[in-house]
Amino acid sequence: MNNYILKPCPFCGKDAQVIKVSRDIDALDNKFYQKYKVGCNNCGFYFEGTIAFDIALYGEFIITENGLNNAIESWNRRADENTHSKIK
Ligand SMILES: [Zn+2]
Repeated sequence: MNNYILKPCPFCGKDAQVIKVSRDIDALDNKFYQKYKVGCNNCGFYFEGTIAFDIALYGEFIITENGLNNAIESWNRRADENTHSKIK
């Protein structure tokens, strides 16, 4: 789950972070949600992403939707755009 690469913040150049925001269990539906934000603590600029899991019979978690990947991709794309357009 930790094999992602985050580009540094396009605004201040500091390291970006993945932060766990909240988790929710939908007991009726046997679903588990983990919400993350990806971005820079210094600038307060984040993309949000939620990972949805199904809770299987023996308690394993099966990822059904990986919004964290999307948030990481969005962050890295944003970091690229801003570095390329930066006036030096
Ligand atoms: Zn920053």
